Amino acid sequence: MSFSKQIFNYWLKRNSLKVPFRKYSSSSTKSGICFTLSETSKEFQELARKFTKEEIIPKAAEYDKTGEYPWDIIKKAHEIGLLNCHLPAEIGGMDLSIFDGSIICEELAYGCSGIETAIEANSLGQTPVIIAGNKEQKKKYLGRHIDEAILAAYCVTEPGTGSDVNSVKTKAVKKGDEYILNGQKMWITNGGVASWYFVLARTDPDPKTPAGKAFTGFIVDRNWTGVTPGRKEINMGQRASDTRGITFEDVRVPKENVLGAEGVGFKIAMATFDRTRTPVAAGAVGVAQRCLDEAKKYALERKTFGVPIAKHQAIAFILADMAIGIESARLAYYKAAYEADQGENNPYYASIAKALASDVANKCASDAVQVFGGNGYNTEYPVEKLMRDAKIYQIYEGTSQIQRLIISRAILEKMK
Ligand SMILES: Cc1cc2nc3c(=O)[nH]c(=O)nc-3n(C[C@H](O)[C@H](O)[C@H](O)COP(=O)(O)OP(=O)(O)OC[C@H]3O[C@@H](n4cnc5c(N)ncnc54)[C@H](O)[C@@H]3O)c2cc1C
Repeated sequence: MSFSKQIFNYWLKRNSLKVPFRKYSSSSTKSGICFTLSETSKEFQELARKFTKEEIIPKAAEYDKTGEYPWDIIKKAHEIGLLNCHLPAEIGGMDLSIFDGSIICEELAYGCSGIETAIEANSLGQTPVIIAGNKEQKKKYLGRHIDEAILAAYCVTEPGTGSDVNSVKTKAVKKGDEYILNGQKMWITNGGVASWYFVLARTDPDPKTPAGKAFTGFIVDRNWTGVTPGRKEINMGQRASDTRGITFEDVRVPKENVLGAEGVGFKIAMATFDRTRTPVAAGAVGVAQRCLDEAKKYALERKTFGVPIAKHQAIAFILADMAIGIESARLAYYKAAYEADQGENNPYYASIAKALASDVANKCASDAVQVFGGNGYNTEYPVEKLMRDAKIYQIYEGTSQIQRLIISRAILEKMK
């Protein structure tokens, strides 16, 4: 059965049963918790796994080498419904839960986390509109994603500031029915390929105004005069993903493109992460799982001192430690996704999941290279790419230090 048919059947089944999409899979059991994926989650996992195996894995090394944008894969992902699963039902989207969306991310990242990041960054750009957009904005900007394989991007970071969002310098000044936007953004995933951007800009020039009131979120079309994406950055890893700086020079943004209201942009930008950090954590788990699978295979084939290296306890224990990390990180993102799907504002669980999964991915990647020995250090083998790809998880969507800041604040807050 074709993928699109599978999705269609899935729609049919869900609609005829009148089961709400936004439903967490695990029913309660005698022990009070269920670790079994629902049939829906399993269906999406299988679909994404098949897509990864057939479409991503065979092309991942080539896209990594050339740095070309994987448009063919993006278009196929769009065709079968793996690109915009989380778009709301009101505009014809699938309104998939964060749980199921994260499961898909794990599978895609297993094949190539650069390609998965390109897909996930699209959600990052769309989420502010999902959270705060009005009916017209949703229809106009999110609605286009249903029929076309277009992309969105999230523009918050600047050359001078990333973690400290309150120091964002891009500004928008109201003039009549428009805002005049000026500033420079940096490290924007999908920056050169997106059709529109979420842009955070300061609208209150008074430095004493708290962040929660000083910034506004705008929807900005890529083709408006004054919008100029820079060159594609050459990054350490995830090279299939498109990262750029973007300059906004006297861009005229109609007031209809303000998200929420003037002054609430910072809150929208932060609330976005509550929904997107968990899928990022899931992506890191996908990378870690790939590291373990590659290392396991190699350890059974490679012989030293007359036996496969897997027979040396030192190597077997490396594999065991990788498995411990992966299982823990997977549970952490399941939990964070569950919380988010309950409608909870969950920076605590999302940050735990992201910090843990990012560290696990990096440790697993480094350990996988170790298991491969000299071969691991070479581009002919798959693990050097995994090691380059893993690093970004500790940096984007809030560094690992910022995740620990959020977690520690939440713990200390509880003690008060
Ligand atoms: C490939 C890639 C893709 C990206 N995609 C996007 C995107 O799509 N949209 C977007 O807006 N941004 C994006 N980013 C930006 C990313 O989110 C930032 O790089 C990140 O938030 C860190 O900001 P920074 O680089 O300015 O580092 P800085 O904030 O300057 O931090 C430098 C170091 O100091 C640490 N640090 C900073 N403050 C503290 C603190 N209070 N306590 C402890 N340690 C601290 C940090 O953890 C880090 O180790 C991307 C970045 C990359 C590299």
